[in-house]
Amino acid sequence: MSNNSVQIVAPSGEHTFILNEEVLKNLLTRDDVKDCGVVLVSVAGAYRKGKSFLLDFFLRYLDYTYNQGNGDGKWLGVAEQSLEGFSWEGGSDRHTTGIHLWSQPFKATLENGEKVVILLMDTQGTFDSESTVKDNATVFALSTMLSSVLIYNLSQNIEEDDLQHLELFMDYGCVAMDKIEGKPFQKLLFLVRDWSYPYDHKYGIQGGKELLEKRLQIKDGQHEELQKLRKYIRRCFEECTCFLMPHPGLKVATDPKFKGKLSDIQPEFLESLEELVPMVLAPENLVAKTINEQKVKARDLLNYFTSYIEIFNS
Ligand code: GDP
Repeated sequence: MSNNSVQIVAPSGEHTFILNEEVLKNLLTRDDVKDCGVVLVSVAGAYRKGKSFLLDFFLRYLDYTYNQGNGDGKWLGVAEQSLEGFSWEGGSDRHTTGIHLWSQPFKATLENGEKVVILLMDTQGTFDSESTVKDNATVFALSTMLSSVLIYNLSQNIEEDDLQHLELFMDYGCVAMDKIEGKPFQKLLFLVRDWSYPYDHKYGIQGGKELLEKRLQIKDGQHEELQKLRKYIRRCFEECTCFLMPHPGLKVATDPKFKGKLSDIQPEFLESLEELVPMVLAPENLVAKTINEQKVKARDLLNYFTSYIEIFNS
């Protein structure tokens, strides 16, 4: 299998979804992979919001660190160098609802000596009306249940709508899990793109934490539904955090086929990438997948995919 992104979950009409079992099986039951733990990082959100652009940097970090075995922090490359190597962009089907997976697992060893494979996933759909959100809920629920790190890619801010959509995905997910021990979901990272109020909250994780604290705050006099939703998010995820990304600059934002140099990207965007990417993917920060407090091996993940899809399609 060549290294590219492959669609593994696709809509098949009338709220049902097809799983590309063949591809998943080839990947997850390979001899060198099947008994490893899994770190599944999913970037989820509406399309055309910079998910692939971000995933290209994730791939660059993974290749530099885990394939080439470097640990010197120079994974981003040289300013004048063009973006090259991996490209997530996978043809026209990327503009439909579904889940895409990078076809190459990256092998890593956790600090406790456990061998894991790191898998990257792109989960996307449309969010332009309540009905499209509902149509997509299965796919986002699946991603929430199966990822060990869910990166919720949002444009400009965390709005009440974004929280309500998340609530729907969590509801679908909780219903599909036959038993829940501990918290049903693992790490949630709200990733706010094009953050434009750095004077209120600084770019990066610190500003993100402050913003999230504000958004998830429970206040006297707040509508009961809003309070319930906030408690629900905290109760369902083992960890919730947020990162504020600056705008990448006009060359990136206005050219759909941008493959330019790092020097064409705003320096503060690159600085934020240098903070964000290792925070998710450095060996000491990897989060291994567990379900019902049990470690999930790659071959088990295949079974979870199949049985969850079956439940959602029934
Ligand atoms: P995806 O559909 O979510 O995977 O989005 P893409 O990564 O394909 O990006 C869509 C467009 O937005 C492209 O023209 C990118 O160059 C551009 N883009 C990428 N990252 C950002 C960002 O952080 N902010 C803005 N404003 N544009 C971005």
